[in-house]
Amino acid sequence: MHDYDDQNIFAKILRGEIPNSTVIETTHTLAFRDINPQAPVHVLVIPKGPYVSYDHFAGAASDEEILDFNRTAAKICEMENVQENGFRAISNTGTHGMQDVPHYHLHILGGRVMGPMTVPV
Ligand code: AMP
Repeated sequence: MHDYDDQNIFAKILRGEIPNSTVIETTHTLAFRDINPQAPVHVLVIPKGPYVSYDHFAGAASDEEILDFNRTAAKICEMENVQENGFRAISNTGTHGMQDVPHYHLHILGGRVMGPMTVPV
């Protein structure tokens, strides 16, 4: 169900095989700027462990990993100065969620009004 492909681009970033624009790194979490930003602030937060999706991470990761991930996401909101005006935190999952990279990531988007949550397809 949650087979992890270790050739995905975020796995390569975690192994240092391709560069990234790091915002913050902790024991269990890495956050870096999206290469194709959709807003003035667009940071991707990823666990270092091999989790495919939100539900995989939330269901299978250790308490320590989940705590570290969420505390890091909160720290990024503070660092990127999006708390006052707000932001959008989203995780696309699977086919219907139109997930491109099969390593769990949380998008933190801010710096402008984000518009409707979904668009008609
Ligand atoms: P998703 O469609 O939710 O899987 O989002 C994948 C995101 O990864 C997209 O917003 C891409 O722009 C971003 N992305 C892909 N490759 C890289 C990369 N090498 N560095 C930073 N962001 C990337």
